[in-house]
Amino acid sequence: MTRGPIASTQLVPLRSVVHSTMSHGRLYLLGDAAHIVPPMSAKGMNLALPDAELFADAVVRYRKERDSSLLDSYSATALRHVWKYQAFASWWTELVHNAGDASYQGEFRRQTARAELAGLFEPGPANRLLSEFIAGLA
Ligand SMILES: Cc1cc2nc3c(=O)[nH]c(=O)nc-3n(C[C@H](O)[C@H](O)[C@H](O)COP(=O)(O)OP(=O)(O)OC[C@H]3O[C@@H](n4cnc5c(N)ncnc54)[C@H](O)[C@@H]3O)c2cc1C
Repeated sequence: MTRGPIASTQLVPLRSVVHSTMSHGRLYLLGDAAHIVPPMSAKGMNLALPDAELFADAVVRYRKERDSSLLDSYSATALRHVWKYQAFASWWTELVHNAGDASYQGEFRRQTARAELAGLFEPGPANRLLSEFIAGLA
């Protein structure tokens, strides 16, 4: 009879994707259709909602005033925000993984990642910047 925990581990690949541009002719990509961020940054929905707000404003402007300027600039405007948070998500994912697991980039990187992570939770500008990115205010 088997004693103790019986475990199975599965590794899930993490994807980072940006479709650039986010529009083509009358086709507009929003949310996950346009970009995927790794889950530990918790930014998927938080990127989808600004896309939706931007696109809705653009459609309303076009319908009310026959002005397509917001639709024309939709992709460029959305992508500025998307790339900023894609950069945050990539950095944060790499950092938290390396801080816990030396098997990816080695013990030296684990120690530098742990030092970096500890520094982020000390009062100061790095902590403020991290808070702003996590809150979506950066
Ligand atoms: C487990 C998990 C946890 C998450 N946690 C967070 C988090 O903490 N914070 C965060 O910001 N994000 C989080 N996300 C990401 C977030 O859920 C997504 O980024 C967000 O829902 C994307 O919104 P969307 O409208 O682009 O796509 P979706 O929410 O996927 O909406 C697409 C909709 O289209 C429908 N659909 C698909 N095909 C068709 C079709 N052919 N015809 C009609 N309808 C169709 C689908 O049924 C769905 O309702 C999480 C995701 C998962 C899976």
